[in-house]
Amino acid sequence: MILPIVAYGDPVLRKVGEEIDQDYPKLKELISNMWETMYNASGVGLAAPQIGLPIRLFVVDTTPFSDDEDLSPDEQKLLNGFKKVFINAHIEEESGTDWPFNEGCLSIPDVREDVNRKERIRITYVDENFKEHVETYDGLLARVIQHEYDHIEGILFTDKLSSLKKRLLKGRLANISKGKISVDYRMRFPNVKKAR
Ligand SMILES: [Zn+2]
Repeated sequence: MILPIVAYGDPVLRKVGEEIDQDYPKLKELISNMWETMYNASGVGLAAPQIGLPIRLFVVDTTPFSDDEDLSPDEQKLLNGFKKVFINAHIEEESGTDWPFNEGCLSIPDVREDVNRKERIRITYVDENFKEHVETYDGLLARVIQHEYDHIEGILFTDKLSSLKKRLLKGRLANISKGKISVDYRMRFPNVKKAR
């Protein structure tokens, strides 16, 4: 089932997500709905707060990035079919130098900005079978995971912009929260009474 994606301005996007356990109600169904919702919106990642749940769960599938001709064949291979569920994730370490990448977010349609993040992360999480993992990622994989991880910490990519950029975006962000945008997937806007 395709779920409505929560738009910028909804307080749920600002909550630090709670850890969950295997008894979380209808977890399998929830994960399958998140995949469907993400693919329907042509996203490469989706975090539970974006569908209104303040829990530490996000999904990532970087396959659409793998056709990028600017990438090396090795990186394309890495991104193609990288599909994972991250539950109770914690980034233990970020290292390397900051690098910019033009990011967007399904909760903030039509806004894209360069965001600086560190090159490499070490992350601990459990997968959908609650098997524990400790993994290291860099480049675009790290980037997508960092963006989704921020969601479960109540952080949005627009928080990371300069104060000038933030000021310039203020009106557009306010319009998004009011639903004054055209978007081709289902959304839920905090500042309108009736959902579309
Ligand atoms: Zn996002």
